Amino acid sequence: MKVTEHIKNAKGETLFSFEIIPPVKGKSIQELYDNIDPLMEFEPPFIDVTTSREEYVYIDRDGLFDKRLTRMRPGTLGICASIKHKYDVDTVPHVLCGGFTKEETEYLLVDCHYLGIDNVMALRGDAMKEEQYFEPTNGGHKYASDLVKQIQGLNRGEYLHEVIETDNCADFCVGVAGYPEKHMEAPSLNSDLKRLKEKVDLGAEYVVTQMFFDNKKYFDFVQAARDMGIKVPIIPGIKPIAVKRHLQLLPQVFRVDIPEELIEAVEGCKNNKEVRQVGIEWCIEQSKELKAGGVPVLHYYSMGKSDNIKAIAKEVF
Ligand code: FAD
Repeated sequence: MKVTEHIKNAKGETLFSFEIIPPVKGKSIQELYDNIDPLMEFEPPFIDVTTSREEYVYIDRDGLFDKRLTRMRPGTLGICASIKHKYDVDTVPHVLCGGFTKEETEYLLVDCHYLGIDNVMALRGDAMKEEQYFEPTNGGHKYASDLVKQIQGLNRGEYLHEVIETDNCADFCVGVAGYPEKHMEAPSLNSDLKRLKEKVDLGAEYVVTQMFFDNKKYFDFVQAARDMGIKVPIIPGIKPIAVKRHLQLLPQVFRVDIPEELIEAVEGCKNNKEVRQVGIEWCIEQSKELKAGGVPVLHYYSMGKSDNIKAIAKEVF
């Protein structure tokens, strides 16, 4: 079922969902199941599965290093299929511009359709580690909006090289990313919102936000989006801080601010066990306020670990 239908059917109740990342190549999928199992009691209508960009590795060949491109965490679609089958839950694969040609994206979408996947998140992806700025892949898309256009074309039977008239068209519900504290490359929050509106005008049916630690940022963002005419559901994505290093890492990677009160609480912790508890408590308060504010879904970035998300969900759902 489409994410938007789940939201409609919930009739104003806030739903619980989460995002997982595929295991590193060579690892078993069991660890993923072990972390999903405890969360299923909160009845997520959908689970997102991220896609990671390819990266360069250097292979030692008798002292000479070969530079090779590889994907460390492949398997997004396989995981989507296995989870959908195992738990009877909708899964949302993240589809990226970066690292994929338009043809590869088309084939991926065809596979999604065969597997009965009804939703996809259309994302640009970040720059590769070696790049300062995002470089579109040869034959790939530059912006997530181009990806939304391709997916909506496919929904109408418009393949890249032909139009196929069929009564078996895909009907993907497309989600896109939104940034309450603006995307790091955007010159202003307002111009970033205009770009978000373009994605919605091209057919994105819901938005999932980047993590934030101050709910005011989310509520202001939703208001600004509504003022701009963005009417689709805006799902808050949130993440509990889990280790002290997150104080530097999360602002650096995701360009988000951390409120002073949370910084002080984390800095006052003697070890990461205490930090994890502070993160849980902050996230419970955030979740309760967002739920009271009528958000359609609370979407948790689990990073593949469920103990803290379970502790939060128990207090909120
Ligand atoms: P876009 O919407 O294309 O925007 C990128 C930048 O370009 C923005 O600054 C925007 O303002 C600007 N822009 C957009 N259109 C134009 C235009 N026409 N002209 C000029 N500027 C323009 N990354 C992964 O690698 N894998 C994942 O699975 C993944 N999942 C994510 C899930 C969520 C909910 C979120 C919020 C992010 C996720 N990301 C993921 C990260 C995401 O790929 C990065 O944040 C990326 O840098 C931007 O992606 P986007 O889809 O928002 O890009």
